[in-house]
Amino acid sequence: MVVSTINGTSPLSHSNGTTIPLSTFSCNSFVNVEKGDPVAFRPYWEKVRDECTVEIKGDEWMSYLGDTNNLCWYMVPQMRDAILRLHNVVGNAVTKDKFLVLGTGSSQLFQALLYALSPSESSHRPINVVAAAPYYSEYKDATDILQSRLFQWTGDAALYDKDEPYIEVVTSPNNPDGTLRVPVVNSGVEGKIIYDLAYYWPQYTPITDQLDHDVMVFTFSKCTGHAGSRIGWAFVKDIEVAKKMIRFVQLNSIGVSRESQIRAAKMIGVICDGYKNLKSIESDHLFFDYSKRLMKERWEKFKGAIEKSKVFTLTKYPTSYCHFNKDLFEQYPAFAWLKCLEGIKDGESYLEKLKIRTRGGGRFGVDAKYVRVSMIGTEDEFIELCTRLSNAKRE
Ligand code: PMP
Repeated sequence: MVVSTINGTSPLSHSNGTTIPLSTFSCNSFVNVEKGDPVAFRPYWEKVRDECTVEIKGDEWMSYLGDTNNLCWYMVPQMRDAILRLHNVVGNAVTKDKFLVLGTGSSQLFQALLYALSPSESSHRPINVVAAAPYYSEYKDATDILQSRLFQWTGDAALYDKDEPYIEVVTSPNNPDGTLRVPVVNSGVEGKIIYDLAYYWPQYTPITDQLDHDVMVFTFSKCTGHAGSRIGWAFVKDIEVAKKMIRFVQLNSIGVSRESQIRAAKMIGVICDGYKNLKSIESDHLFFDYSKRLMKERWEKFKGAIEKSKVFTLTKYPTSYCHFNKDLFEQYPAFAWLKCLEGIKDGESYLEKLKIRTRGGGRFGVDAKYVRVSMIGTEDEFIELCTRLSNAKRE
């Protein structure tokens, strides 16, 4: 077993015995913090790798079906139980009296929801889909890619002034800027709301409330960091909406990989067992304690680098009481949202010159002086990012 500390730079070791050195930076190579690949928590999963090993035999999990007694027939009972247990441990969502719909990542569920929440009569005009800017950059493309007759991207929810049906996506904490959000549309028509709660986990934000909305979407990707498993889930109040979502997933991928479900259920089980055996376990072995500490350390380092650079300002976050951690703490978002000071019009191009690849404000529906930087990449990427940022000086 490979053991490493939060700041450790142990090589990545594969089960076939090969290793890849982590640090690959020369002054000519780019630090890519453009994507939100959540690999930061890998050292934790290295520590517990043996407990998490899943063996799947050749004859197992062959069927399309997971549980024919469940409305979500492709979800295996282990997956359902693990998701309910996780929310029970964290206390971030009310799961009672809701239908649980599993997806191949929450990206699939977003599309399933657009379909399920759109008016079914063909006489209707496409329903407007909005989110307050800066919004998660993929919503726009995911809405418009098929040029559907059912729904269309309409942009910034704060500017929406039509008295027409709409779907508002509320991402809280928000990607890209980490802010906590509520619906903002001001319309004479009652809209439908999708709460995207990808980052409502204790390592990123205090758990202040057990949320109880009609449509709440979560993803395994940002909870544990296992983005490659492609597991997401939604809690849905209305059975007709849940049925339509399940129909969409059936037509789109005939369910969700059973191997992925089994692995995800195992990982979630390891996290929850840790909190059950609180007294006999070190805090470094508790996933949310570990990952919150990592995010806190990164944010402290990052703020120091930004202060030194004198080129950017950062979003300020409030401190709140977290019911899960039973303490006051700040937010440590998965992305930093930087605003360039006067004189720099295009943050992405400015940082590109410093060999830092970021995603510019335009992709999120705002000005190019803003940029998004991932805080959840590898440790050596993060250290290199801080070094380059602290050396940035205004021209
Ligand atoms: N919603 C938000 C706000 C996200 O940031 C992401 C991932 N970047 C997703 C949804 C999609 O996640 P998944 O891996 O579950 O498809």
